[in-house]
Amino acid sequence: MLSRILIALFALTTAAPAQTNPDWTTPFPPHRVIANVYYVGSKDLASYLITTPEGHILINSNLESSPAQIKKSVEQLGFKLSDVKILLISHAHFDHCAGSSLIKQWTHAKYMVMDGDVSVVESGGKTDFQYGNSKDKESHYPPAKVDRVLHDGDEVRLGGVVLVAHKTAGHTKGCTTWTLKVKDNGKMYDVVIVGSPNVNPGYKLVNNKTYPQIAQDYQQTFRILNALPCDVFLGAHGGYYDMLAKYPRLKDGGPNPFIDPAGYKAYVADREQAFEAELKKQQAGAK
Ligand SMILES: [Zn+2]
Repeated sequence: MLSRILIALFALTTAAPAQTNPDWTTPFPPHRVIANVYYVGSKDLASYLITTPEGHILINSNLESSPAQIKKSVEQLGFKLSDVKILLISHAHFDHCAGSSLIKQWTHAKYMVMDGDVSVVESGGKTDFQYGNSKDKESHYPPAKVDRVLHDGDEVRLGGVVLVAHKTAGHTKGCTTWTLKVKDNGKMYDVVIVGSPNVNPGYKLVNNKTYPQIAQDYQQTFRILNALPCDVFLGAHGGYYDMLAKYPRLKDGGPNPFIDPAGYKAYVADREQAFEAELKKQQAGAK
């Protein structure tokens, strides 16, 4: 009986976005991932600073309370948050975009968001297909105006950096996987920042009235993720790419632990299997 209660509790706490995980607010040492790509997030909520001579790009504003922590991390690395010119997100869930309104106020950065997520961030989460009517106050956050609507394959350019926005929808309607090429020690690397391939608890993959093409979108997402060249594997949460295990190895001065093409392939395969299993289960239940 107790184990049943524990399982139920666990299900509740992982039903993101519903409860704040302590790892989302615990500070984490900011660090250089590779070349001009830096980690400025918390212990699990990833936020990336990509520096250029013409100002910086920030990916993910995280929780409503996160901007102060992000600012501190950026400063610890010797940069200024006020130099951020472009703000991007992994997807329109409160754990990645609730801080956007404040970051925009502080920096006047241009907010660029994938088409399917625009109305969600501009309504502060109220038009989300799953959490729009949620009673959980955390699902909603200060709305932030989008300055440029992105479409699949669009490029975001600043100071010689080119980021490509891949629409990897399903988790949200505009979930975005970011890619860029970097040069480190004379070698070129493909960096992939995975938006989210996960099926949240409660997601309806079959007969979903607020998101009819959800299953096809996930399938398209896995086609895209399987096809992307990847050397440096990153994601919206540190947990996607095992950041907590990799970070200490970075300090050893050995090979860069974030260069992990095999880890990327294994992660995508695992998430695709989980999606297919959930889809089968729901299809069987719908018959
Ligand atoms: Zn999410």
